[in-house]
Amino acid sequence: MTQPHHRPDPPERMCPSTPAANATVFLGMITPAGRVAYVTPQLPAEVALATVAGSPEPVESRYRLAGPCVTSSCGFWTGDHCGLGARVADSYREVTGATEAELPRCAIRRSCRWYAEQGAAACAACSHVVTDAR
Ligand code: SF4
Repeated sequence: MTQPHHRPDPPERMCPSTPAANATVFLGMITPAGRVAYVTPQLPAEVALATVAGSPEPVESRYRLAGPCVTSSCGFWTGDHCGLGARVADSYREVTGATEAELPRCAIRRSCRWYAEQGAAACAACSHVVTDAR
């Protein structure tokens, strides 16, 4: 008998800037200075969504939410990577000499699409991103 050929599925990647409708993780709060204060340990997106129920303000203007990367169903997907992650990381790449130890503590690093593709430069940029809810 031959062993079945086992090929593991590629790891599911998380989008660190996803609209509320796709959110599963409460990634962070946007401070008055416009920086993200990351929430650790991981909390479900529902915790953030519950605080803004009934508010006219889009939740994305107050919180950063993460959810499964939807690849080709997203306008930022280039066909093989996240174009938004590449763009935000590029804008910070020159200014970061960040070492792994200096990266912000966020709840999704091991599965983050931006970090997997762009490395530490993505994290330096990430704390300045406010999700476009449109
Ligand atoms: S800090 Fe880095 S690993 Fe965490 S969500 Fe942002 S880009 Fe991803």
